[in-house]
Amino acid sequence: MSMKKIIVTGGAGFIGSAVVRQLIDQKGFNVINLDKLTYAGNLDSLSEIAHSDRYLHEMVDICDANELANVFNKHKPNFVMHLAAESHVDRSIDGPDDFIKTNINGTFNLLETARHYFENLEDIDKKNFRFHHISTDEVYGDLVGSNDLFTEETSYSPSSPYSASKAASDHLVRAWNRTYRLPVIITNCSNNYGPYHFPEKLIPHVILNALHGKPLPVYGDGQQIRDWLYVEDHARALIKVVTEGEIGETYNIGGHNEKTNLEVVKTICDILEELLPKKPQGIKNYHDLITFVKDRPGHDVRYAIDASKIQHKLGWVPQETFETGLLKTVKWYIDNREWWERVLSGAYCLERIGELE
Ligand code: NAD
Repeated sequence: MSMKKIIVTGGAGFIGSAVVRQLIDQKGFNVINLDKLTYAGNLDSLSEIAHSDRYLHEMVDICDANELANVFNKHKPNFVMHLAAESHVDRSIDGPDDFIKTNINGTFNLLETARHYFENLEDIDKKNFRFHHISTDEVYGDLVGSNDLFTEETSYSPSSPYSASKAASDHLVRAWNRTYRLPVIITNCSNNYGPYHFPEKLIPHVILNALHGKPLPVYGDGQQIRDWLYVEDHARALIKVVTEGEIGETYNIGGHNEKTNLEVVKTICDILEELLPKKPQGIKNYHDLITFVKDRPGHDVRYAIDASKIQHKLGWVPQETFETGLLKTVKWYIDNREWWERVLSGAYCLERIGELE
């Protein structure tokens, strides 16, 4: 395969940085990380590949159509992998504005930029161009009281401002394929976890609170079920889809690891009991830190994904089980104190806007 140029939007985020690290490791790809660096974007997560001459960061907002056109014209990508988004459900409930701007208007801008660029390509380049939109299983809504799984045919029924904005972006992407023949592929994935995850999300939040002897908050009764996938497995799936997937298709991605939130928190406590039996002062047992807090409004009860299509059509299966992936994740947070201390202190953000030496 000849060298491919890929624009990865949101490449400084949790999943985007895993994709960028793998693309650089795999050779064969030049990566342009198009990322505005919101609070969730962190170039520290790319330090191991940042020196590569096949990697470049363009600090651009996907809401800025002129800047997007400049980046496309300058770098002439073969593929676009679109991960940039506002991604935290709780933040979308507190302030939906940025979710509408980035997830809907930003995706619209990116589609229009890609369309104009695509329409001016030579036939051979047109044939090989791909626009890969990365989305979530949350667009399908809730599976309360059933054993069903989300398939690619499940109708959309989003609950939160976050999932509604992602659903809207998925519809736009499909429309740009149907109306303008833009060669798109969509993937919808379940909850990810793993290294470099921003500490406000459930798994890193629980690990770091436990390390500090702080309460481990669990929403409601903790019986909400999520289907967990190790982030490196997701990144492998995404690279397979953009290079081998079929135009116009949707692929669901998941790990067949359905766990209640309470089970997740308890498993983290069990792992920490083994890895770090010496606890913060005054703590007898990590499990004693578990604290039930008021549930989030509109909280979906169960998500579960049928990932058989990507398995059969593209031969992708996850390499990690929930147990192996979670063990790796907890170990990573224990071993990479520097990364999360800089995140918690805000230093990684401040440096970018020049407030630190
Ligand atoms: P994240 O919040 O960790 O990262 C998002 C990145 O996008 C950040 O680097 C941020 O700086 C960048 N960004 C945000 N707004 C931007 C803008 N206007 N212009 C340019 N860059 C901008 O998110 P994540 O968890 O890595 O998720 C990535 C994608 O995968 C999202 O589209 C999300 O909906 C989807 N997804 C996430 C999960 C999950 O469990 N985290 C699961 C399925 C799908």
